[in-house]
Amino acid sequence: MMDETLEVFTGNFTQQEPISEAGIAAAVAVMRSGRLHRYNIAPGEIDETAALEVDFATYTGARYCLAVASGGYAMRCALRALGVAPGERVLTNAFTLAPVPGAIAALGAEPVLVETTEDLVIDLEDFADKATTAGAKVLLLSHMRGHICDMDRLMEIASAAGITVVEDCAHTMGAAWRGTPSGRFGAVGCYSTQTYKHMNSGEGGLIVSDDPVLMARMILISGSYMLYHRHRAAPGPDYFETAKYQMPNVSGRMDNLRAAILRPQIAELPDRAARWNGLYRALEAGLSAAPGLRLIPRPQDEAFVGSSFQFLLPGWEAARIQGLVARCAARGVELKWFGAAEPVAFTSRHQSWRYAPAQNLPRTDRLLSALLDLRLPLTFHEADAVAIARILDAELRRS
Ligand SMILES: *Cc1c(COP(=O)(O)O)cnc(C)c1O
Repeated sequence: MMDETLEVFTGNFTQQEPISEAGIAAAVAVMRSGRLHRYNIAPGEIDETAALEVDFATYTGARYCLAVASGGYAMRCALRALGVAPGERVLTNAFTLAPVPGAIAALGAEPVLVETTEDLVIDLEDFADKATTAGAKVLLLSHMRGHICDMDRLMEIASAAGITVVEDCAHTMGAAWRGTPSGRFGAVGCYSTQTYKHMNSGEGGLIVSDDPVLMARMILISGSYMLYHRHRAAPGPDYFETAKYQMPNVSGRMDNLRAAILRPQIAELPDRAARWNGLYRALEAGLSAAPGLRLIPRPQDEAFVGSSFQFLLPGWEAARIQGLVARCAARGVELKWFGAAEPVAFTSRHQSWRYAPAQNLPRTDRLLSALLDLRLPLTFHEADAVAIARILDAELRRS
């Protein structure tokens, strides 16, 4: 029986902030114009989608940018532009979200999963090993839940093995490693603007690259027809000459309505990152004396965006974790456990990706069985993070 006097948290873990008035006004202007398709432009007009690409290229410091339909599409488009073929093996993180191995499988290629460390990043020893033995030429690197590995070391291993890196930055838009923005280490950086990410257009994706050959291919693949010259964060026409006969059109464009909603949000990213980190640090501080848990250390070299929070319960039995999750849920604190046998909501583990060959990942399995995850929407205030920590701390003490 629940003690009636126990504190219950009443915040909503999936409630986002509204779209700002600037975004709403820009979206209404697009709707009034009727020109929602990115290539439907009036004489002299710069469409919102092309303008978004210029703004996001500037924000990340990339030469080129392409806006697309989703983060998943961004990854599929990058892999296709790299010439990933059916049956080819592609390295990726064992700890990630389903659209990542899904992007590899969508091309008929085979995900080869790399182990995870206690700090929730890709295991660089296992990567070094598989980089030379797996027969892969691409790593789709997922900065899962915003944790960034030692990128200098990762890029060293990749370049020594001739591996091209594509970064999945769905959780690291606005983050950096030693001052270099996430997404700017690999040949291609992919971002999502889906509602639960750092910018919100419902659905959407962004791709950045400095490589003119790859970017021309991605623009053509995204469904530019012969209108690629309307892109402004794009390489010159020469790069499209041969590619336009070779790249299949796999439509996945962004539209002007979503681009209009997104453009004002780029300028809001630093403030959002600061507020997310305020929530993150408040939760972290509130749990600093909690028994039985291990917090994830954040390296000095990593500038992260704390839009979610993870911790480990090392050595806990499944039933004890399930008990904690249930008691926290009863007190309004929504924890997701990566160790559950069945995939729940957005959370699944590699054993559920049965389109890929089963893989032996003891380190990741041990980690996932102890891993708890919390969302931190920006509709929360620091007092909410403090309250969540207080409830969690109390329940950990009762477990
Ligand atoms: C959300 C997400 C994606 C894909 O984004 P969509 O826009 O939903 O396709 C990719 N990787 C990770 C880690 C994600 O969380």
